[in-house]
Amino acid sequence: MLVFDMQVVDTKAIAQQAHSSLQEAWHLGCTGRSVEALTLAGEILADAKARGDDRLAAQCDTDIAWYCFQIGKAELGLTHVRRAVDFWKSNEEPKQESYARAYSGWLLLELGLPEEAIEEATRALDLADKTADLKAQSLATNVIGIIFWYNKQPDRAILMSERSVELARMIGNKTYECWWLINLGGAHSEGGYIAEALRQPGEGRQMLVRALELTEQALDIATETGDNWAARICLGNKAEFHSHLGEHDEALQCMVRYRLFQENSYVRDREQYLYTLGQIYNNSGKFEEALSPLLEAMELIDAGGSFDSCIQIYLYLSQAYEGLGQFDPALAAHKKYHQAYLRNSAERTQRRARLAEIYYETKRFKEVAETESKRAETLEASYQKLQEQTDILANAVYLDALTGLYNRRYLDSRFKALTSEKRPYSIAMLDVDHFKSINDNFSHMIGDRVLSTIGAILRSQLRITDQAVRFGGEEFAVLLAGAPRGAADVCQKLRSAIEQWDWSEICNGLNVTISIGVASALSGKSPNEILAIADQNLYTAKKSGRNRVVS
Ligand code: GH3
Ligand code: MG
Ligand code: MG
Repeated sequence: MLVFDMQVVDTKAIAQQAHSSLQEAWHLGCTGRSVEALTLAGEILADAKARGDDRLAAQCDTDIAWYCFQIGKAELGLTHVRRAVDFWKSNEEPKQESYARAYSGWLLLELGLPEEAIEEATRALDLADKTADLKAQSLATNVIGIIFWYNKQPDRAILMSERSVELARMIGNKTYECWWLINLGGAHSEGGYIAEALRQPGEGRQMLVRALELTEQALDIATETGDNWAARICLGNKAEFHSHLGEHDEALQCMVRYRLFQENSYVRDREQYLYTLGQIYNNSGKFEEALSPLLEAMELIDAGGSFDSCIQIYLYLSQAYEGLGQFDPALAAHKKYHQAYLRNSAERTQRRARLAEIYYETKRFKEVAETESKRAETLEASYQKLQEQTDILANAVYLDALTGLYNRRYLDSRFKALTSEKRPYSIAMLDVDHFKSINDNFSHMIGDRVLSTIGAILRSQLRITDQAVRFGGEEFAVLLAGAPRGAADVCQKLRSAIEQWDWSEICNGLNVTISIGVASALSGKSPNEILAIADQNLYTAKKSGRNRVVS
């Protein structure tokens, strides 16, 4: 008994120790030592996993995502934060889920995936609003601000970033205040660049001057809190703004100051330092000097950093070569720049277009945002709007690309709704018979065509009340409304439609059949339990000769 008690105390002490170590890691991350923070949090994570402390592990995964962002390892960060999101979600901890989703959104943006980013960020904000946690709201609002900034919507970005700074101030969080001020400055600079492009030099200048002021404020806080990482970003940004204003000496002075904070700098910072320096030289016509930092920056691309940096580096490099009259390397760099852009946009053009549409729609809120009294209202409305966007994007997230049917994620969300469903429903599990030999005998490509054809047959045969889902591989699930008897009839119809289909159109000698297991909602059974019974019936259908329905 005594031994047992001691173990309990021990476990508690270990957990407490781990939590304070995690806080220590966070402090490291806020004071420019994110590599150390990452190492420490990684150790705590390994230990938490070994002890089966899943909650602590999820906390580690969440924080690690942020350190990864800081040091330019966005992909690694994403793998951690995905795990955390799953845990917080299944554990129903909306506040923690909100933090994790906000970081996840930020990382996705960093990797050049704006649609996914906005989906995560809007969910993060929604969760933060529900829990009314100011810190979570501050983070989520800031991430939405950056998304608008990166998507060249400075007005909306400024509104959001201002709000996030305001929230950080309300809770007295200096670190957040500093980081969000940097982004607020960035959003202003974007506004300035756009104004310049629209040939409104007066307004452009004004915005850049404001960007400088805000970044200076952030720099003051960073210096006060010892946050070298933030200080470096501030100085890099200030240098860029000065350079744009034609203030080359001031820009170079910032870069000299930058070096004072360069101890422990990360890939992401080094990249920024180098390409900013290159840009400053370019802007002042010193192309020869620009070349070496830019080439050095290019070497760093594979080591990490952001998608955005990669694009900047190639762009400035091509400008430097062009300035030097070396047109071949200029063209090569420009091609790389273009490729980096295309890599991301080609397959996403459509989705991007839709995103742009959504953004421009939200732009009209800006018109009523002039007065302070209306601002809160505007924010409200824009949150609402963002919420609607989440729904639109969610639709895309729920479809399977090959068959056009719903995917597993959709099924999961339907299962939640079905749990409280009072009306009868059935679930059918479908599996293609001997699909492996179709792949083997006819090719994988034919196999894919079979799957997409089955998708089309299911869609055409099903009643409007039923929904077909590609469950995975060559397995499908169908949600059927109504009484069990009707469900079995529908399944027979599906089975025979597939058997009767003229498969020789796809390939001579091709025949396809499916086996189906059905189960109906019984009181007290969850959708997952019904699915399991359907799966069992499917197994029986297979064992008793295939091409049949078992209910
Ligand atoms: P059974 O009648 O017992 O279901 O036999 P089977 O061969 O259909 O079963 P099995 O589960 O062994 O094989 C399923 C195969 O489906 C294996 C996998 O390679 C293939 N597969 C899974 N997803 C896809 C896909 O998207 N396209 C293609 N072409 N094949 C797939
Ligand atoms: Mg199978
Ligand atoms: Mg099969």
